[in-house]
Amino acid sequence: MDATTDSYDCIVVGGGFAGLGTAWNLLRRGLRVLVLEAAADLGGLVASYAFPTFRIEKFYHHFFPSDRELLTAIRDLGISDRVVTVPGSVGYLVGGAVYPLNTPFEILRFPGLSFAGKVRLARLVRAARTLDAAELERLDNVSAIDWIRSIGGEEVYMRFFAPLLKGKFGEAAPDISAAWLVARVRLRSGRSLRKGEMLCYFRGGFQDLVDALARDVVARGDVRMGEPAAAIVVEHGMAAGVLTKTGHYRSRAVVAALTPPLLARLVAMPEEWVRTTGRIEFQACTCAVVGVRRSVLPIYWLNIDCEDLPFDVMLEHNNLMNSPDYDCRLLYLASYHSRPTDPLFCLPEEDLVEKYLHGLERQFHWQRSDLLWWRVARAAQAGPIYRKGYLSAMPTHETPIHRLWHASMVHSFPERSVADSFRQADVVARLVASELRGQ
Ligand SMILES: Cc1cc2nc3c(=O)[nH]c(=O)nc-3n(C[C@H](O)[C@H](O)[C@H](O)COP(=O)(O)OP(=O)(O)OC[C@H]3O[C@@H](n4cnc5c(N)ncnc54)[C@H](O)[C@@H]3O)c2cc1C
Repeated sequence: MDATTDSYDCIVVGGGFAGLGTAWNLLRRGLRVLVLEAAADLGGLVASYAFPTFRIEKFYHHFFPSDRELLTAIRDLGISDRVVTVPGSVGYLVGGAVYPLNTPFEILRFPGLSFAGKVRLARLVRAARTLDAAELERLDNVSAIDWIRSIGGEEVYMRFFAPLLKGKFGEAAPDISAAWLVARVRLRSGRSLRKGEMLCYFRGGFQDLVDALARDVVARGDVRMGEPAAAIVVEHGMAAGVLTKTGHYRSRAVVAALTPPLLARLVAMPEEWVRTTGRIEFQACTCAVVGVRRSVLPIYWLNIDCEDLPFDVMLEHNNLMNSPDYDCRLLYLASYHSRPTDPLFCLPEEDLVEKYLHGLERQFHWQRSDLLWWRVARAAQAGPIYRKGYLSAMPTHETPIHRLWHASMVHSFPERSVADSFRQADVVARLVASELRGQ
């Protein structure tokens, strides 16, 4: 190992959006920062495939006009002109047919629920929106299923929420907390009745954002890619640097922008912290992007109520963003698994795609001759599983080790997102800067 003489105010471990965002915020406050990223590229889960005329995310991504912190960062990075805001059409696959669910008329026509069921669904949405913070916290130990049944009744549960919960959480669905469901409904139910929900995307994909942020961080700080942290150094009970295979970097503070299990591999965290954060499980995700000749869906996002299909969600990206740079239609087919040992998650890529394409043929009368190419990505930690008790297991940004801070998708509730990574990055950078300056 080469001992380096470099010393930093702060080392950020992880170059996903939580890490890059934190580094960017610290650098803007004039601190000396090093980012260590294990992979060859920055961006973490927001990596893209590069094609000759366009780039497309490995995992589908969009954001919302209400994501204020993210929009402010986009403005400060000088890339506001790269953002497009468009109606994000959604629908439901029920009984073999696709039903768009964007306008009141479409919702009224939806055959999946009776009229009385629709009224009860509206009542449930209203109940979720009017709960106060204390009630929300109480629901942390109540299952979403029990809460839906008690407010919306059996039909609303079975015919509307059960397939959504199963699609999102698989076999963990019965254990998902009502606090998560209520918070999620509150977050996403503010759509315009006329236009549906507005979504944002970048003209050149999220890689526009990764590039702009990485450019700024590289220009002002030090970034080492392909150099995973092997250990966080603690001296006198205080984080004092990071060891990698090739270097020993000293610093006055460390931010771990990683999930708790990855952080616990780098430093001996107190037992209580490990036990509590260890209650948080992660879902894995398999996500294929398929380039096809012709459109398959009339909408962007399709929720699926069909046991026979091997994927839980399907998107036609061009129905969100139809860039003239695309030379095909881009379909996302994704499955969520409650464990990375799930057989589908472990299938060889060719076999997995074969299953997915077969599903497309059977359900959407799609033809193989329309296939241009496919790519598959997998993430073992694609998002937290919001089981009952999640709120009490959620760690704080301060860790029990002095001057070691933590920012990751587990700090996001009810939904991990790029926007929330930016919000956290701002909070953590403030904490670090105020601690170091107050010295
Ligand atoms: C299928 C899918 C769809 C999604 N859709 C959306 C969406 O539409 N909108 C949205 O806003 N968000 C979406 N997200 C969520 C979003 O991608 C994440 O919330 C966000 O990217 C998380 O950023 P992060 O920095 O916390 O984690 P990550 O992106 O996982 O970054 C962690 C980084 O740490 C690095 N690392 C790990 N170990 C080490 C080590 N020892 N040393 C150094 N580096 C290390 C990793 O290589 C990685 O780069 C989606 C995610 C998935 C999986």
